[in-house]
Amino acid sequence: MHESQVAGLARLHQGKVRDIYAIDEQHMLIVTTDRLSAFDVVLPDPIPGKGRVLTQISNHWFGRTGHIVPNHLSDFPLSRAVPDPAARALLADRSMIVRRLNALPVEAVVRGYLIGSGWKDYQRTGAVSGRVRRGRHTTVAAVMLPLERGGYLVDTPGFSEVGVWDIDPASLDQCFADFKPFLGECRYGDCRHQSEPGCRIREAVEQGAIAQGRWESYGALLAELESAPRQWE
Ligand SMILES: [Zn+2]
Repeated sequence: MHESQVAGLARLHQGKVRDIYAIDEQHMLIVTTDRLSAFDVVLPDPIPGKGRVLTQISNHWFGRTGHIVPNHLSDFPLSRAVPDPAARALLADRSMIVRRLNALPVEAVVRGYLIGSGWKDYQRTGAVSGRVRRGRHTTVAAVMLPLERGGYLVDTPGFSEVGVWDIDPASLDQCFADFKPFLGECRYGDCRHQSEPGCRIREAVEQGAIAQGRWESYGALLAELESAPRQWE
C-alpha cells in the first residue's frame, strides 16, 4: 500500500509514511503505509508489508508500556470507523485508532550499539550525539540493506561516510516530492537545479514554495552521488 484511501473519512494529514484521517472530534485513524523514507525523502518504491510490521511493533510496545505511561491508543472499534468489510480488511493490521492529543514536538532515536566515530566520541565525552543544524544527530551505526529490485538502502551516521546508493543523479530530483510540481519546467531538460539559468526549482525556492533546507539537502546528495564511486554495483 503506497497511498491509503478511506471512503467516508476526511484525510487530515499525509506524513512521509503515515496517513491520518478524522473519525470524530475525539478520534483519528492512523494508517501506516508501505512508503519508504530515507534522509527525509520518500523513495518511489514501497516495501510491501512494511506498514503492517511497523504497526504491529508499535502496538506491541504500546501494550507493554501502557501501565507505565499513558498513550494515544483508543478502544474505539475499527468496524465503527470503517463499516465496509472489504475496506476494513485492507486496514486492519496496518492502522490504529487514536485519541486526538496535542503533540509534544520531541523525537528520539534509540540505537542498539555504537561503532566507528560515534563509539570514539562516546568513550571520550560520554555523549552519544553531536549537534547538527537539523537537531541532535544520533545515528551512530551504519546499516546496509540490499533491496529486492537492486541497489541498497544505507542508514549511516552521515551519508558522506558511505555515500552510494543506486540512484542515478539525474533522477534524484524525482525523489523529492515537493519538487514534483515544478519538474519539467526548467529551461534545460537536463537541469541539475544548481546554478543553471531558467531553473524552475530554484525559482520555487526563492518564492518559498520549496523549503530552502530541502533544496540544500538535494544539492548535498547530488554532489555526493555525482562524485561517488559505484562500489557496490
Ligand atoms: Zn532546474
